[in-house]
Amino acid sequence: MTSAALAAPTVHTGKTAEVAHFIDGRAVSSAKPSFENRNPATGEVVSLVHEADAALVDDAVQAARRALKGPWGKMSDQERSAILRKVADGITRRFDEFVRAEVLDTGKPVSLASHLDIPRGAANFNVFADQILTASTETFRMATPDGAGALNYAIRVPRGVIAVVCPWNLPLLLMTWKVAPALACGNTVVVKPSEETPTTAALLGQIMNEAGIPPGVYNVVQGLGPNSTGEFLTRHPEVDGITFTGETRTGEAIMAAASKGVRPVSLELGGKNAAMVFADCDLDKAIEGTMRSVFANCGQVCLGTERVYVERPIFDSFVERLKSAAQGLKMGDPFDKTTNLGPLISAEHRNKVMSYYERAKAEGARIVLGGGIPKLAAPQSGGYFIEPTIWTGLPETSTVVREEIFGPCCHITPFDSEDEVADRVNDSPYGLATAIWTNNLTRAHRLSARIDVGIVWVNSWFLRDLRTPFGGSKQSGVGREGGVHSMEFYTELRNVCVKL
Ligand code: NAD
Repeated sequence: MTSAALAAPTVHTGKTAEVAHFIDGRAVSSAKPSFENRNPATGEVVSLVHEADAALVDDAVQAARRALKGPWGKMSDQERSAILRKVADGITRRFDEFVRAEVLDTGKPVSLASHLDIPRGAANFNVFADQILTASTETFRMATPDGAGALNYAIRVPRGVIAVVCPWNLPLLLMTWKVAPALACGNTVVVKPSEETPTTAALLGQIMNEAGIPPGVYNVVQGLGPNSTGEFLTRHPEVDGITFTGETRTGEAIMAAASKGVRPVSLELGGKNAAMVFADCDLDKAIEGTMRSVFANCGQVCLGTERVYVERPIFDSFVERLKSAAQGLKMGDPFDKTTNLGPLISAEHRNKVMSYYERAKAEGARIVLGGGIPKLAAPQSGGYFIEPTIWTGLPETSTVVREEIFGPCCHITPFDSEDEVADRVNDSPYGLATAIWTNNLTRAHRLSARIDVGIVWVNSWFLRDLRTPFGGSKQSGVGREGGVHSMEFYTELRNVCVKL
């Protein structure tokens, strides 16, 4: 075992901090840290991150296996539920520390981290602490030839060790969205945070200990994806199920890894989400909702809108109003409470988004707004900022209109009929989310049934009761999580048939 205990592994201090693994209830380091974690808002190194090799991943999986047989495996739903509430309380108690870590790792505005990421991180534990107390199963009485009958009833049992592989855009929120239901159902987990955002998953280890989660129930292995920690974890034969959020391409690799041993997967993947704005909508609300759905988190939200279809009579005014609202975005220091547009996650991701900005130009787009890299004063001059960008005029076949960009940008297209827009929206390999802006409720219901996505918003965006099914169709995912749907993934249903 190439590990050693670290005293204070996860705290950002004046000097360069180190972010380590969390295995069997304690911080564990590799021989040395192997990569830098940079603040996307300045480009400065905020921490050095350890990378789990195959042996360390195995240590984490074995710790998780042992923990299944320990006190965790014997606890009642009520006891686990009470501990999960303590985890939620622990996040809330150390709220500022989580916010600071998330802002340093992602560059997202402090207003977003403190209103969305960290509160939802805590809420996920409370939601599933409730859910497990009301999870029911089915019972059937059946006839038998002797007339006595038999009773069939189902019981839920934990799947076992769950691998949780996470993206960087909403690190704590999306990680706890998986960890909370997995633990509520009695599983143990090994989490692989994104290499871009290692810190809050490690911090959560300390909260788990304080809340009384037994050692080995929650483990974190830091590292990269292919040929590294992510692959070692998802290929590990003693992982019983894999839940993943990230790019569709990575989802394919994980599904292939899971096929060995026929392990179940839950995949929340990419999108190229469309909004449909009808002339009869409340335009103020449509502009406000589209602004959020295009530019929130600098466009790095899986549910975000990158294709906007606007009914022709209001097309020009919609484009002008969205442009003027976007000009009002304040880019800069994420720790300034008035900032609402942070940087992209990395230099590499900015290069990718810029390549789409260049392609839009080359394909003849009309650039309504943006299209370049802004000049900011130090220290933000070293950050990975990019201009909010709006295009019109591209055909549906354009790569910019078809591929997920994951940046603060959208293309706006006029349409003339409901049929036309429905066909255009459905003409995508992805099927994650859509937003319909209309005051014609009949139309809203009709279109909701017709658009091939996992979630439809009518006159809203990002609003959702956490008990509802969440996931994507087509290449946007496999399976649904949320409420009882999470119980379906994180438990096996076993039928017991009792001859009476
Ligand atoms: P990514 O797929 O590049 O990485 C996600 C995680 O997978 C990281 O932890 C990475 O290290 C790991 N990984 C990469 N290759 C791997 C491999 N071969 N085996 C095992 N693990 C591997 O995604 P990202 O760039 O972090 O996140 C952005 C993407 O996530 C976007 O496509 C976005 O749409 C999607 N996303 C989807 C949802 C959803 O709910 N549908 C939510 C958020 C983000």
